[in-house]
Amino acid sequence: MRVILNTKHDAHIPPGEFENGEIIPCYERPERLTTIRTALEVAGGHTFEEPPACSEEAVLTVHNPGYVAYLRETAAEIRRSRGSTPKVQWPTVFPYGVNPRATGNRALRGHYCFDTYTPILGGTFAAALGGASAALHAAELVASGAERQVYVLTRPPGHHAERERCGGYCYFNHAALVAERLAKLGRVAILDIDVHHGNGAQHIFYERGDVLTVSVHGDPAGLYPFFSGYADETGTGAGLGANVNVPLPPGTGVKEYRPALAESLDAVRKFVPTFLVLAFGADAHELDPLGGFKLPLGYYREMTAVVRELGLPTVVTQEGGYNLDVIGNCVVEALKGLEL
Ligand SMILES: [Zn+2]
Repeated sequence: MRVILNTKHDAHIPPGEFENGEIIPCYERPERLTTIRTALEVAGGHTFEEPPACSEEAVLTVHNPGYVAYLRETAAEIRRSRGSTPKVQWPTVFPYGVNPRATGNRALRGHYCFDTYTPILGGTFAAALGGASAALHAAELVASGAERQVYVLTRPPGHHAERERCGGYCYFNHAALVAERLAKLGRVAILDIDVHHGNGAQHIFYERGDVLTVSVHGDPAGLYPFFSGYADETGTGAGLGANVNVPLPPGTGVKEYRPALAESLDAVRKFVPTFLVLAFGADAHELDPLGGFKLPLGYYREMTAVVRELGLPTVVTQEGGYNLDVIGNCVVEALKGLEL
């Protein structure tokens, strides 16, 4: 398969993530991307390419201009800073109500971010824009008919990023960028099979009837992102019925996952889309440190083979997956399933 790389990804290497009152080693690290690439190279049959750089305006199709400017300016300020100024910017106060006067730096940190796992560094904007470039290039390849299937290998991931908030290691929403581009040509379904709810796409397309968002994930009652991903979130206005959440309990194995995925695919079929965006995470694997599901490596090919049966032109975006020993082979198997 043609693999579009975010070659700017290693401009963003957080020194840690803030969890339960302490800074712990980052789960979202550069080795995630290099490990997946190596596994694909060993498996063979894939080509790797760097996308042309997209403009900042290109991400405004799904992101708020104020948010994009905030990421750009914060990163630039960090790069310019000297001496004791921190090289990483973390939010510390989150909005507890709407107040248009809350425009200072400390307020904006919480306004534009919803957790403590998603800091901004000097290279964050460049890395995020590199991911957007890869996603948009993949979208063009499928939109033009040049390819039926393309895989976007990028980090940081994208599926938690909302229109004007980063979170869950994500800054720009790659799946949403692809969907918005393809929506110019026809109806688009986003199927998110990362173990965490794809809250970003849900948020961005919640009122849209031309983009279906479907997510199969761990029940947010006990798993990140906690505040969304429940089955009764079905869209609103023109988007009513075009958002489908399939939450599953901790410890979900193949026996429970298989019918849930089938249900999700039925929702996609009923929508009759022209294009599919598959937001793929490898964190539903049984050895993932964050997911809590029990899917074995042997299931990953079957998992995407049933997605392939939809017969849709597909862009795959790399989302989560945090066990470096298994994510490479999960991706290899998933892409094999799509190519059968
Ligand atoms: Zn995830």
